[in-house]
Amino acid sequence: MPARGFDEDALKKHVEAGKIAARVRDEAVSRIRPGARLLDICEWVERRIVELGGRPAFPCNISVNDVAAHYTPPPGDESLVPEGSIVKLDVGVHVDGYIADTAVTVSFNPDYDALLEAAREALEAALSVVRPGAKFREVGRVVEETISRHGFKPIKNLSGHSLGRYLIHAGESIPNTREPLRFGTFKPGHAYAIEPFATNGAGYVKDARDAFIYAVVKMRAKGLRSFEARLLREAYSRFRTLPFAARWLLDLGSADAVIGGLGGLVRRRVVHAYPVLVEAAGGLVSQFEHTVFVTDDDVVVTTSSTKL
Ligand code: MN
Ligand code: MN
Repeated sequence: MPARGFDEDALKKHVEAGKIAARVRDEAVSRIRPGARLLDICEWVERRIVELGGRPAFPCNISVNDVAAHYTPPPGDESLVPEGSIVKLDVGVHVDGYIADTAVTVSFNPDYDALLEAAREALEAALSVVRPGAKFREVGRVVEETISRHGFKPIKNLSGHSLGRYLIHAGESIPNTREPLRFGTFKPGHAYAIEPFATNGAGYVKDARDAFIYAVVKMRAKGLRSFEARLLREAYSRFRTLPFAARWLLDLGSADAVIGGLGGLVRRRVVHAYPVLVEAAGGLVSQFEHTVFVTDDDVVVTTSSTKL
């Protein structure tokens, strides 16, 4: 074997995380049906990840209709999968900090099948141009072309991203629209999430008022109440810099206490809250996502479907 210019251990752990993420994603699809509780689906996803030997890299995201991303059920959420809806499930798994990030869309309305297909084909087209040295803007070009050909718009302010150890967004963005001036190339030894979003709306998302996903951004702050300090310590020791949900801290206090404490940490800017992202014109949204690991001469799609 010739020496390779990247960390073999990182590849092995990315592949392991990807296998778990793909399996959980594919198994979860049959649990997404009208009338099912979003909370039950997400708790199942997160439990299954651990059962298979991984850890959630972020809270299970389940985003319905015009919600594009970043919805995870808050504690006690009674929301159900609506009849006739289109639902995105976004699953993140890490093994020793090496992340797999993958998403699928399920439609319960034949009228939305074309929208779903547009994002699925856009992801296929994107993966076909990814190779060592390929330009990020090539992805944006083929994603926009594919989605436009289906009569929809790509969501321009959501993008793919480089992945770092314990880092979901490691600094580089992979565009979903044509951006001739976008620099950056796919580099051996690095992992990337590629995730086209298609919509029949305005083509961009805005922040909703609610935020149910958090991440620690600073390790200390002056004047924290003792419960806030405890929440911060526990959150960092459990999740490091990865996103987490209030649901994952309910052993420390009641839902109200945990949500209130996290709110205090957000106001002091030691914890970041990710707002739910909704389509700006209320359009419906579809999304597909895979994670790739770029080797010296090839690309490994770590989250490819496993045969069930
Ligand atoms: Mn994702
Ligand atoms: Mn992603």
